[in-house]
Amino acid sequence: MHTSSVTPEQALQMLVDGNQRYTGGKSEHPHQNSARRQEVFTGQHPFVTILSCSDSRVPPEVFFDQGIGDLFIIRNAGNILDDVVLGSMEYAAEHLGVPLVLVLGHTKCGAVTATVQGGEVPGHIGSIVTTIKPAADAVKGEAGDAVLNATLANVRMSVEKIRTCEPILAEMVKHGKMNVVGAIYQIDTGKVEFLK
Ligand SMILES: [Zn+2]
Repeated sequence: MHTSSVTPEQALQMLVDGNQRYTGGKSEHPHQNSARRQEVFTGQHPFVTILSCSDSRVPPEVFFDQGIGDLFIIRNAGNILDDVVLGSMEYAAEHLGVPLVLVLGHTKCGAVTATVQGGEVPGHIGSIVTTIKPAADAVKGEAGDAVLNATLANVRMSVEKIRTCEPILAEMVKHGKMNVVGAIYQIDTGKVEFLK
């Protein structure tokens, strides 16, 4: 197994710092040139695995001010967690030694909105709604914005599932080699709010 030289705490700080640069209009656009391509040609050592939404307004490299070889990103509509996603996370953890997993929901998510609104959805979109529904049901009737509440619940439930996912991820968390955190990306301000 590859062991990362970056700790889970350092990885989280790199995301916090990058988002601060971005929202402050001070993006450095690191690791986006031919020198970086050559540097990672023989192998990648990303410092975080991110599960985020496919929404075109949610580009992690941009709002975390990172570049090539930095972020191992899994995206699907609604940032939903399934076995294929878990397999990708296990690969990143086991083979690449990635020390941090971030589950990133966002405001105004269409997939979560469709789930909260209910009703019929055509084709395979139903499988997305079905996966998000337990999160939406868990916070049904709570005060505040129903879509945001469901988005938060969706992130929190995924974080918990990843932390306890045997045999690879749960073991790494147990031994302090990996941390799992959740956050919400605000599509209007560009700010990432990490969940406590
Ligand atoms: Zn979305």
